[in-house]
Parts: sequence; structure tokens; C-alpha cells
Amino acid sequence: MGGGIAGLATARGLLAGGWDVEVRERADGPPTSGWTLGMWPQALAALEELGLGDLVRTGSAVAAGGELRRPDGRVLVRVTPRTAVRLVERTALLAALADGLPDGVVRWGAPVAGAADLPAADVVVAADGVGSVLRRDLFPAVGRPRALGTIAVRGVAAGPATALAETWGPGRVFGTTARLDGRTNVYACFRSDLAGPAELASPKELLRRVYAGWHRGVVDTVEDLEEATLDARPLLDVRPPAHTSSGRTVLVGDAAHAMAPHLGRGACESLVDAVALARQLRGAPDVASALAAYDAERRRPAARLVRASRLVHDVSTARRLTGPRDLLLGAVGRVAAARRAPGAD
Ligand SMILES: Cc1cc2nc3c(=O)[nH]c(=O)nc-3n(C[C@H](O)[C@H](O)[C@H](O)COP(=O)(O)OP(=O)(O)OC[C@H]3O[C@@H](n4cnc5c(N)ncnc54)[C@H](O)[C@@H]3O)c2cc1C
Repeated sequence: MGGGIAGLATARGLLAGGWDVEVRERADGPPTSGWTLGMWPQALAALEELGLGDLVRTGSAVAAGGELRRPDGRVLVRVTPRTAVRLVERTALLAALADGLPDGVVRWGAPVAGAADLPAADVVVAADGVGSVLRRDLFPAVGRPRALGTIAVRGVAAGPATALAETWGPGRVFGTTARLDGRTNVYACFRSDLAGPAELASPKELLRRVYAGWHRGVVDTVEDLEEATLDARPLLDVRPPAHTSSGRTVLVGDAAHAMAPHLGRGACESLVDAVALARQLRGAPDVASALAAYDAERRRPAARLVRASRLVHDVSTARRLTGPRDLLLGAVGRVAAARRAPGAD
């Protein structure tokens, strides 16, 4: 259940293996708006395995190098990625995952109330996101999603961004990436107490205030933001479960491992989960062995990313010791630049 990235990708993988699949999704149809997702090599390989290599080759932008700045504009670190990360629009990814699924596989407007509301099935894939009702009912030890103490705002600004650029200041981060349509993808993250509850209703005004006095790249981008594209929400993650399955129900995607977005890995791991689960269900002698093999393959790597994402979240939105942090980042940047310089070994 759940017709997001994890649910649709798992459905695709299972259908290719000859399974009968039904996806129950509470929304009435696919989303018509969304933001850009960074896709790491493991996720690109998963998309290839799902037969969506064309999306990777033609429907995405390459994330060229990036830079990290202080609020006064001084560059702390320039980054040249060693691996190819591509930028894909969430709506394009979801459309590609749904494309070609037989009619009736996805039941839109079909919410699942909880574990008592499940149909008879050999396997139930819980792909219902960070607020998963199946995780709540069948994996009570995991507990409720954990508030990270920050708010994320995403949106689109008019005009192009050529590279990934992030600026870190006390308790707040502002970042941009390129979009295929020539506009700029914007994300901001700041400590929750910087915003009054009523301010979330006017995210552009809120960003003007939170980032006032920062360098022109930030202030001008906030002005260029298109109001209709803005989304503001508190950030949550999920304590990694001790097991990814309970009886015939298995967790995938954010239901299993919602994480802070600071490493850009949540959707990527959802795709990797989907491909791994479908492969295990195709190859194992029975469902129980397939779910055990999926757990062995996916639970620990995903848990490591939940912890690493939380660490980067905490460091990037720290309020205190930002001076020593920035000095350290600057030193790392100089060492990396020296290593990249012509003649360096
Ligand atoms: C600010 C931000 C930036 C991010 N940037 C990146 C990035 O650059 N790269 C990256 O890899 N990841 C990124 N992520 C993470 C990524 O968005 C998620 O990891 C990904 O969407 C998880 O997909 P999912 O299918 O598991 O969950 P979801 O996308 O939440 O989908 C769950 C689906 O289940 C449905 N559902 C929920 N409950 C029910 C129910 N009871 N009955 C029926 N249906 C139900 C929902 O309607 C939804 O369609 C970011 C996240 C945030 C918040």
C-alpha cells in the first residue's frame, strides 16, 4: 500500500516477476507538482533495473560541482563529485514509475485505515511513508516519527542555477540546484523556533525574514521564488526498526527509514529497497525466506543512512560552534583543492 516512489517501484518490480499486484493509494491521483530529487548511482542502477533507464539518460540533469558558503558569501568548500548524481523531478519520476502499469493496479482514493483493513494477500508491502499506519500497528517498538526540530521549505525560483550551492549559517541552511526547465530548485532548512506557527502559511515572507542580511545569491533567490510552488513542513525521521517485516507485512521506503533530507538519499533508498524486495520475492523458495533475505540486504545500510543524515542535519543547522565548524570546513576545502590541483598526486 502507498503509491509513492517506494510503492510504485515495488509494484513495477513485482509485476515484472509475474506477481499479481494491487496498490492502494489514499490520494485521488498522481501529484501534479513537486520538487527536484538528487539521484545517487545506486538509485540510478535501480531505475535501470526497473526499465527506466531513459528517464535517467534524457529526463534528468547532471548535478555538476557545488560550493558551500558562509552567510557573508565567502566560499568555505568547493565540491567536485566523484560519482555522477542526477537531478530528477519528483513528478517525472512518479509518472515514469506508473507508466505502463496495467489498468486497475493502482487504486487511487483508496486509503488503508490500518492493519485490520488489509486484504487477503501473500505479501503486504507497507510503502505508506513517514507516517505509516502499518508501521504504527505492526511495529509498535519503532514508535512515532521523531521531530528533528527543524522546518524545511522547498520551492522553485525563476531563473537558472548552474550548480549546487549551499549556505550554512547559525541554525539555518539555504540551498539551490539546477532544474531541467531552466528554473532553480530551492530548499531551506532552519530551527523550528525561528518561525512562529502562523508564519508557515506565508513561507516566502518567512524566508525573507529568516535569511535577511545573507549574501545576494540567497536574498535575490528568495525574491525570485514562485509563491505557488512553496511547501513548508517540519522535518521528521524514523527510528530504524529491529526487523523490516512482521508476518507477511514488509516495510519499504520512508515507512522503514524516513531520514533527514540532508544527504538526499530517502527516495534513492526507496528505489533500492523496491528492487531488492522484488528480486528476493522472485528468487526465494517462499515468502518468509524472501523477507528474511531482504532484511539482511537492506536494514543495516538504510539504518546507517538514517544516522548519517541526522548527523549532517544537526551539524548544518547547529546554532553554536559555527565558527570552529566553518574553520574546519574551510581547511577540508583547501586540502581537497590542493589534491585536485594540477601536479598533485
Ligand atoms: C525537504 C526534502 C527534500 C528531499 N530531497 C531528497 C533528494 O534530493 N533525494 C532523495 O533521494 N530523497 C529526498 N527526499 C526524501 C524523499 O522525498 C522520500 O524519501 C521519498 O519520497 C519516500 O518515498 P515513499 O514512497 O517511501 O514515501 P512517500 O513519498 O511519502 O509516499 C507514500 C505514499 O503512501 C500514501 N499513503 C500514506 N498513508 C496511506 C494510507 N493510510 N493508505 C493509502 N495510502 C497512503 C501517500 O499518499 C503517498 O503517496 C527529500 C525529502 C524532503 C522532506
